[in-house]
Order: sequence, then structure tokens, then C-alpha cells
Amino acid sequence: MSKSETATSTDNTCTTAGIYRSDCADQERVTLAVGDHLPKCPSCRKAVGWNLVAAT
Ligand SMILES: [Zn+2]
Repeated sequence: MSKSETATSTDNTCTTAGIYRSDCADQERVTLAVGDHLPKCPSCRKAVGWNLVAAT
């Protein structure tokens, strides 16, 4: 899996539509479209990394 294409973080812009999982302990999932801003984790409210788990 190419990290540069499938991982991003809070405040970046989504470039690959899909389901992302936070890299914090919460492992929250969000569904994003291209152009969306990556959110903070909805549970711990911190800036987190987001890893693409399924492209849509
Ligand atoms: Zn969290």
C-alpha cells in the first residue's frame, strides 16, 4: 500500500474519495469525497492521521 496516496491527516484536502480510519486509538471511520477537508477525530478531537481503508 502506498502511504503517500492512501494516508493523509487533519486539515489536508481529500484527493481520493473513500472511507478513512483515524490512526489514533479510537480508529474512527469517516467517508470523504474529493475536495473535503480531513476532520479532526470526532472522539478525541485531536488532529490525527487518516488512512484510506476503502476507496469509493
Ligand atoms: Zn481519536
